[in-house]
Amino acid sequence: MRLETLAVHAGASPDPETGAVAPPIHLSTTFEHAPDGSLPYGWIYQRTDNPTQQRFEEALAALEHGESALLFGSGMAAGSAIMQSLPPQSHVLLPNDAYHGFRALAREFSKRWNLHCTFADFGDEGAIRAALLPNTALVWAETPSNPLLQITDLAALANIVHQHGAMLLVDNTFATPVLQQPLMLGADIVLHSVTKYIGGHSDLMAGALVFAHGRGALAQQAAHTRSTVGLHGSPFVAWMALRGLHSLPARMAWHNRNARAVAAALCAHTAVERVHYPGLPEHPGHALAARQMREFGGMVSFELVGGRDAALACASRLRLFINATSLGGCESLVEHRASVEGAHPMSPPGLLRLSVGLEHPDDLVGDLLQALSS
Ligand SMILES: *Cc1c(COP(=O)(O)O)cnc(C)c1O
Repeated sequence: MRLETLAVHAGASPDPETGAVAPPIHLSTTFEHAPDGSLPYGWIYQRTDNPTQQRFEEALAALEHGESALLFGSGMAAGSAIMQSLPPQSHVLLPNDAYHGFRALAREFSKRWNLHCTFADFGDEGAIRAALLPNTALVWAETPSNPLLQITDLAALANIVHQHGAMLLVDNTFATPVLQQPLMLGADIVLHSVTKYIGGHSDLMAGALVFAHGRGALAQQAAHTRSTVGLHGSPFVAWMALRGLHSLPARMAWHNRNARAVAAALCAHTAVERVHYPGLPEHPGHALAARQMREFGGMVSFELVGGRDAALACASRLRLFINATSLGGCESLVEHRASVEGAHPMSPPGLLRLSVGLEHPDDLVGDLLQALSS
């Protein structure tokens, strides 16, 4: 079955009780069990597991070619769960440009959790090899990365990590399983902020982990962490996330098309110094992205000739692009990342990040041109 078909049908069999085509939402917190505690229906308590969530997990695991998946209350909860499921005293290696929330998590919480986290430049294989330690349990990659859209060679990285006896996690939030399937390239775990493209409408918050075949023990530990630490989501959000998965391939096709148009228009403009989009032939990761991704996605960053002031002025003149954080919704968003990255900004001061939405590309390009030219 092709991906578009799978996205519509995975986790979507009609309700056996009623024939309802859209799945029911089971809000029950508790499930009847036998007097001896055995589970005739397979469920016990919503925090541990529930039928609506399981539908979403089956669907996402199928789309990522994983053995199993777990839904969490947010992308951060999913990342916390995997960190808290590693053996004590493990070392975790992250890229310098990992999502800023995970950089904060690694900096501020790893010691409390008895972990050792370090960072390296993932554009440099030698730097990655040099940063691996005898107790490295997990290598954490993110490609395309946020906000510079840098591309990491996942197959090559998986080889290095496995030679070392560690596991590779890939944050696949920007690409989604529609554009990139890290488990097929050798990764062990995929992480999603479901809040973004999978939810797709800027109205739900959730995260997920998907585990490769053979990683069942880690999946079980992560499920135990989710339940015991309380990192679960809600059945209603699971239902909305499943609804998002059905239209994900169709939406991604429009995000790709619109982002290409936006990137091309920005490249041609004299007020723009640099455009970061892996779909551009001059992007340093273009050839690699063309190999390991199906398309280049809906995120575009660009730097203005006039630096910070020009970037803020442009962001204030945009009408269709809303100044807001997050990404992956129907509406286009713009963000001056350096202003929102807190005490340790990674983004160049003149950079604006765009989440290119589902509007008509001519309207989006028109809005950018008026904001750049006035
Ligand atoms: C937003 C985001 C996260 C965090 O997810 P939340 O759902 O906001 O907790 C992690 N990784 C990437 C790449 C993100 O964009």
